[in-house]
Amino acid sequence: MKRFVPLFLPLLLLITLAAGPAQAQAGLSATYSADVRFPEAITFNLEAEGAADINDIFLRYRVDMITTVEATSVVQIEFEPATAIDINWTWEMRKLLGSLPPGTEVHYSWRIEDASGGKLETPWATVKFNDERHVWKSLTESDVTLFWYTGEQPFAQTLLDAAHEALERLARDVGVELDQAVEIYIYASQYDLLEAMIYPQEWMGGAAFPDYGIIAIGVAPHELEWGKRAISHEIAHMVIYQIVYNPYNDIPTWLDEGLALYAEGELRADIKAALEAAISRDSLISVQTISSSFPSDYNEALLSYAESYSVVEFLIQEYGKEEILLLLDIFKRGSTYDDALLEVYGFDTAGLDDLWRLSLGLEPRQPTQTAVPQVTATPTPDGALFSCQGTTDENRRDGLTVLVITGILLMPGISEVIRLRVRRNNR
Ligand SMILES: [Zn+2]
Repeated sequence: MKRFVPLFLPLLLLITLAAGPAQAQAGLSATYSADVRFPEAITFNLEAEGAADINDIFLRYRVDMITTVEATSVVQIEFEPATAIDINWTWEMRKLLGSLPPGTEVHYSWRIEDASGGKLETPWATVKFNDERHVWKSLTESDVTLFWYTGEQPFAQTLLDAAHEALERLARDVGVELDQAVEIYIYASQYDLLEAMIYPQEWMGGAAFPDYGIIAIGVAPHELEWGKRAISHEIAHMVIYQIVYNPYNDIPTWLDEGLALYAEGELRADIKAALEAAISRDSLISVQTISSSFPSDYNEALLSYAESYSVVEFLIQEYGKEEILLLLDIFKRGSTYDDALLEVYGFDTAGLDDLWRLSLGLEPRQPTQTAVPQVTATPTPDGALFSCQGTTDENRRDGLTVLVITGILLMPGISEVIRLRVRRNNR
């Protein structure tokens, strides 16, 4: 694991995004606003006046999220009581150990009390945590809005089309659809993307924030092919997350990653080659093993992705899309992996492994081999569902094109970072 070296300089750009009207109630009045310093902070400003000393001030704020129950945070502000106050409080994202994605809406309200018992609660105001360091253009088609700032319109249109093709593939072959709108932010390079993140990993190529319905990816205009695949992959994760989100359990990694690869369209040549080689050598990893996090070894991670695609393809072709849909529906209720498979197909993970192997012309595993510890659903913090977990070891081999597929839980329950990219490592 590499250590992150901060790439960005302190940003001095301050933008006032929302200003509240003056309020008058019980002799108290207030004016308020919020300043965004993306991606690091939001400062909430308040000026208030009263006939008596103002002696208590609370800021309440909550973040707009699409699936999780919204939690309101309350901050008690420290200040010297006075009849007129001018204060601010800064929400430092660094203290969260992670980033809020661009475009996140934060709602806030002030509660002011004075020494005579007067109280004022301001109406909830909204500040958008926009990355105003770039001049964004946008394209919207149905539930997907794509924001970008470098490249011509056809570049953005191609990426948006890729998202819709992935959604159509998922709707047609699996029967799943987006439940909530998704925003995709296209940064013009990986460098720009990293500058938009708090504590990024240098291998990051994209970040998916399923709870917010937001995807951020670095795609230079010459990386269009990679960008199309990455967007298709991530939007598939969004669809699946929206469908199966539940606070109790997740879904097997092979199902999540297999569907995401399926949404990309034709399987990538290197992934396909890894699968074919493993079939010919009879060296497939068991479905039980790829139910949990993928291995950190590069070749094993690549094979894990390849097999995930193959298992999903097997289930769709042999049993139909309705069964996949039913399987996702059962996972939504928080079922364990084996119970869900048994309910839909009548076999558990080990049984799936046997049938899938038979479909590839291989013998079922011998009992000694099936003694591989049964992987059961491990309840993890929300969002772990979406770790495109692979390897943080980039297997640097000069001149080789290496796939790096890695996930990290940035902010438990809130965000997660995904990278799925082919990169030349001889930079
Ligand atoms: Zn993935």
